[in-house]
Amino acid sequence: MISVEAALELILSEIKPLGMERVDILSSLGRVLGEDIAASVDNPPWDNSAMDGYAVRAIDTRGASRNNPVILKVIEDLPAGYVARKAMKKGEAIRIMTGAPMPEGADAVVMVEETEKSEVRSQKSEVRIFRETKIGENVRKAGEDFKKGGTVLTKGATIRPAEIGLLAAVGKAHVPVYQRPRVAVLSTGDELVDIEETLASGAIRNSNGYTIAAQIKACGAAVFQLGIAGDNKKDLQEKLEFGLTADCIVSSGGVSVGDFDFVKDVLREMGSEMRFWKVAMKPGKPLAFGIIGGKPAFGLPGNPVSAMIAFEQFVRPALLKMMGKRDIFKRAFDALLTQSVKKKPGRMHFVRGALEQKQGQLYATPLEGQGSGILSSMAKANCLIMLSEDAKDIKENSKVKVQPLDESLLYQDKPGY
Ligand code: AMP
Ligand code: MG
Repeated sequence: MISVEAALELILSEIKPLGMERVDILSSLGRVLGEDIAASVDNPPWDNSAMDGYAVRAIDTRGASRNNPVILKVIEDLPAGYVARKAMKKGEAIRIMTGAPMPEGADAVVMVEETEKSEVRSQKSEVRIFRETKIGENVRKAGEDFKKGGTVLTKGATIRPAEIGLLAAVGKAHVPVYQRPRVAVLSTGDELVDIEETLASGAIRNSNGYTIAAQIKACGAAVFQLGIAGDNKKDLQEKLEFGLTADCIVSSGGVSVGDFDFVKDVLREMGSEMRFWKVAMKPGKPLAFGIIGGKPAFGLPGNPVSAMIAFEQFVRPALLKMMGKRDIFKRAFDALLTQSVKKKPGRMHFVRGALEQKQGQLYATPLEGQGSGILSSMAKANCLIMLSEDAKDIKENSKVKVQPLDESLLYQDKPGY
């Protein structure tokens, strides 16, 4: 039996990122950036106004107040997208809109609320400035967002809406991203029937094929369904061989020590070097991993929760690494256990739990129904409470490490402020 850490390290040592492809900018959402992106321009390209108001020379506003305004001559009106035709001289101002380039000679902007415009004659106008301003006030400096030649995004970053905006700002209509792995999913077991088939006696519905496919999709990879294989070598081999056209194979069931658990044997006969097949964890102990035809193959346990948890711990980081992602491990949070948990040393436990925050402290509560076939408690859980391999019975209020399961931890029934 191999430890969770050693198994993960061994798996990841065999995984290499896939190649690159170019996709249009919006299709890159959620993908992993394949290259560093350098800025082709300064952003903003020039000093510009952060406010609607008047571009001024700060020195001309010295001493200005409500009771004692400074009067400046307005020489031009400047909307965003236009450049001032005139340079500003002493005693002059230019009406300026947010985002418009700073006129030559101006060094500050007074917001419109601190001014009053007065028409003098039809062509000429003046503005009263009610507040003294400093050099640089309400001016956004050229390059303050990013500078030409600088790296705006780095390879391995996951592309979110903010990254999409930056890509647009540097003129990237197409984006180099890592290819998504295509992952073959095989469910094994003579007892399995597909969703819409009738449940004859002794049969159960293939749920793993769907949970695992969903976990693959949730990682951002693509699913290739191989369906159900019976517990015989011929069927298993046929279906697994079909799976070799994918980038990775994930099966469930048939990896235990039962009389009909042939997945390991078949993988071996197909030329796979089995790296290990038992991991010191609960649930999820039977887990086979090997490489066939250069492709990683995971034989997950058949019990629905074991399969899910083994996927989260091993297959997810492997797929994320194939996708070139920089950070591939789930973050762990420290929480206090709200009730004691019985445990024997020897295996790392992943306990389905509910994580809550009260007065700034995280509390983890183990859920009812921890059997490895009880999928409904997995649906109620928002986290896995991780109890280390050598830990014994754990007392209430002990500090434990908790792994968030998915986005459910990010949402609640009321605003969080
Ligand atoms: P096995 O690892 O093949 O011995 O399966 C362990 C348990 O998981 C058995 O109760 C199986 O019926 C169940 N099981 C195996 N594969 C699936 C599946 N695809 N969907 C739901 N349950 C499964
Ligand atoms: Mg089976």
